[in-house]
Amino acid sequence: MPRRTKIVATIGPASSSPEILEKMILAGMDVARLNFSHGTEQDHLDRVDLIRSIAKKLGRTVGILGDLQGPKIRVGKFRDSRITLKAGEAFILDAACSLGDQERVGLDYKELPRDVSMGDALLLDDGKIELRVERVEGNEVHTTVVQGGVLSNNKGINRRGGGLTAPALTDKDIEDIKLAARMKVDYLAVSFPRSGADVQWARDLLHKAGGHAQIQSKIERAEAIDALEDIIAASDSIMVARGDLAVEVGDAAVPAMQKRMIRLARQMNKTVITATQMMESMISSPVPTRAEVSDVANAVLDGSDAVMLSAESAAGSFPVEAIAAMARVCTEAEKEDTLELIGLHESDRIDQVEKAVARAVIHTARHLGVKAIAALTQSGTTALLVSRADVNVPIYAMTPVEATQRKVTLFRGVYPVDFQHKTEGAAEIIAMAEACLLDLKAVKKGDLILLTIGEPIGTPGGTNTMKIIRIGDHD
Ligand code: PGA
Ligand code: MN
Repeated sequence: MPRRTKIVATIGPASSSPEILEKMILAGMDVARLNFSHGTEQDHLDRVDLIRSIAKKLGRTVGILGDLQGPKIRVGKFRDSRITLKAGEAFILDAACSLGDQERVGLDYKELPRDVSMGDALLLDDGKIELRVERVEGNEVHTTVVQGGVLSNNKGINRRGGGLTAPALTDKDIEDIKLAARMKVDYLAVSFPRSGADVQWARDLLHKAGGHAQIQSKIERAEAIDALEDIIAASDSIMVARGDLAVEVGDAAVPAMQKRMIRLARQMNKTVITATQMMESMISSPVPTRAEVSDVANAVLDGSDAVMLSAESAAGSFPVEAIAAMARVCTEAEKEDTLELIGLHESDRIDQVEKAVARAVIHTARHLGVKAIAALTQSGTTALLVSRADVNVPIYAMTPVEATQRKVTLFRGVYPVDFQHKTEGAAEIIAMAEACLLDLKAVKKGDLILLTIGEPIGTPGGTNTMKIIRIGDHD
């Protein structure tokens, strides 16, 4: 059984060369994440071309996730690049300041002074530094340092408890959405959405720009937790974005939220990535810590579709080793029975023909020892629905549509198969599918498989048939 949980790796300076990218793909990178916070338009276009051409050469399918920067609120720059703040000192966040010093620093989000009030805790640089708001005077937020440390240029600011009003898409994000459409990314990640409406806004802009990516919502604001169902309903996928989320809700609250988010996403037939600091020590070490191994394994047992590397693969010394370590941990964790994972439960409303077929597939796969599920698909929807339950059988999404092949790279337990067929006849197509799976050594003669298909052939979302097939002779 191939590895089921997928691996997303962030591309950065440590992973931009063709040699490293090739090794990363061979080590198990399923989806490459490009971060719009860094790099020029041309950098991103070149990177996508490079990744796709290497994948093609290797005969692999690699998805592309474009991640919008979002309204991350940041301090400005310092005259000497950095300062050191000590507990008890006074410090001013000044929307009108251009170059910072020991006394004050500027802000990229000029509205911050209107959003905060006395007693608020402001967390800088992922919570490494904490400031308490004493008072607001015009453009100036006067604070006392609670937790000191080194503060350097452009570090992020969060408020504990959330509630900063910056809109979900900045002017830069709106431009980057157009770029994402040109890059034909398979997933577009929206940072800091507060509601389903924020997500819909990004989707509308993407469609207007001619893009068809899956929309992924990064759950990283305190407000997003309250609006979880609304956000998931508006999204195709979510990311448990533990970096910013931990700053807003407190780190100790995140693990339980992770489990809830994964469960809910599966229940609502959406995919979910668990992200941030999963293999953090591998930025500078060739092996993970015991705690990191446990973290990745637990994310697998919770039901994540994918686990993600950030700085480990973007800027670390061991990008390939980090992917290999994740792959090894995922495969081992998957041996544990997770049949209780949600997916088209009895209580689910079966309001679509496709869902009825998917339920039949899940049920049959669990009771009849089948070796594979072949979903002949245009959109990948049947493969998605079946994969919301852990059926412990590989699901092959067999499709002529390249975008669908790339989309399913994120789905747990689903493997893309390039399946081109000229005929419209169902019987012939099914015979071709069997031959194709034999060719791939996914099945052997005599194996029992389940196959789903929509008749008439070629209608997206038209799956209406499950067949139980004993693999026969094909040449
Ligand atoms: P980031 O998002 O890496 O873009 O900040 C993920 C997170 O906050 O965990
Ligand atoms: Mn984040």
